[in-house]
Order: sequence, then C-alpha cells, then structure tokens
Amino acid sequence: MKIIRYSDSAGDIHYAREAGGSFERLAGELFGELTPTGETADVAKLLAPLVPSVILCIGLNYRHHAEETKAKIPEFPILFVKTPNTLQNPGDPIQLPTALASHQVDYECELAVVIGRTCKNVKREHALDYVFGYTAANDVSARDWQKNWGGGQWCRGKSFDTFAPLGPVLVTSDEIPNPNSLAIKTIVNGETLQDWTTADMIFDVPTLIEFLSGSTTLYPGTVILTGTPHGVGMARNPPRWLQPGDEVTVEVEKIGRLTNPVVSE
Ligand code: MG
Repeated sequence: MKIIRYSDSAGDIHYAREAGGSFERLAGELFGELTPTGETADVAKLLAPLVPSVILCIGLNYRHHAEETKAKIPEFPILFVKTPNTLQNPGDPIQLPTALASHQVDYECELAVVIGRTCKNVKREHALDYVFGYTAANDVSARDWQKNWGGGQWCRGKSFDTFAPLGPVLVTSDEIPNPNSLAIKTIVNGETLQDWTTADMIFDVPTLIEFLSGSTTLYPGTVILTGTPHGVGMARNPPRWLQPGDEVTVEVEKIGRLTNPVVSE
C-alpha cells in the first residue's frame, strides 16, 4: 500500500492510499488499523507522511560516500538525531538559516525506514518484521555548523528548522521486500548530483535495526535515516551549496520523488 498524509479543504488531516491513479481516504490509525472508506481523498495539501516519534540518523553509511569524505569506514554505525522542528512537508521550502547563519547548506538523499511496532534487542534476521514501511528523506545539513562550530557533534548542523523533508509517499514493507536494492538520487534544478543504490550501505537496514534496538526500545513512528551515497555538495569541486531559488528532489525507487524549493529563512 502507498500511503499519504494530507490536509483537506476544511483543514482536517487524514491518511489516504493510492488506488488507480487517485487517492482513497483511509480511516483509523497509521500504526493501528487503517480502513479504506471508498471516498476519494480531498487532498488540499500533502504533508510529511507521519510525525515521527524520533528521527534517528546514521552518518557515513555508504562506502563510496565515506571514501569521498576521506573518512575511515566506521566500525559501528554512527548515530545522531534530528530534532522534531526539522520535519518538513513535501513541496514546502527548505530554509537556509540566516539568524544563526550558514553558508554551507547541503542535500543528502536518504531511504527512511519507519518502525511500526515497539521492539528491543531485535536480531538481524527478524528486523524487517518491525518495519511498517519506507519513505524518502532529505537529510539537509549545514556543513559549517556540522564540522566547525558544533563542538564535534553533528546535531547542531543537522537540526535547523525544515532540515528533514519527508515523503510524500509511505510505502508499506510488503511492497519492498529488500530495502537494500533500491536506486536513490538527488536532483537539483534538473541536474542529477547523487545517483546510486542502497546496496552500497556499509550497515544494511536489518543490521541498523539490530544495532539501534540494542538495549534500546524503538517505538512505532521511529524514523531511521539510513545515510546518503556519494555526490554530496560538500565533496564536489567546487562545492555545490544550496542557494535560494534552488529546487531539490530526492528520488527513491519504488517510493517516488520528494521535491522542496530552497529559500532564505
Ligand atoms: Mg545523512
């Protein structure tokens, strides 16, 4: 099932599923029972497909990306978080910070995993049983705050408002039996800047869930950003930073396209 979250013309928020080129409204809860209503969805505005309970992110998880940044291959997954204010809807703008200014804002296309059931100490071979579905994400990153002014933590540079566009479609896990075989891209103003495959992950999705759930409860609505392939703006010569007026699209095979314009805060 391909699920969207949207607000209707009265401003009420609903879920719907894609059905033959249009959307049918669903009743119920995302992590409970979702029931088709037979009603065509009155989609006034697309929203991020869920409000995450937490956004867990993995850094340097693609071999070629670790190489382009001249980082050594990590022994364990590198975990950081993005705060709730970062969530952004499809089509709404990524804001380049001006008050706490950044001049090095970068894009990162990522496969986002949505946990559907509470779990802890999950073994790799059972890990995908806890996945509700998958969506597309952009792990927008202010490299100056990430690298130079963040006290060695990535959280500052990764957690400005609008730095986590998500969606638009949440594809249930039955439609993606292997999340590590998907094409993944970033396109800026029509130019493809990242173009790779989730098969290049150093720690694949089941391994990430085993690691993240180790001695740690994962709740429904946990969103895991699984890292980005090579081709980020920081590693280009010259670097390619996002500018007001740019339009960024993240495309993930079997999920679709997430597009956001770029503006100044
Ligand atoms: Mg990332």
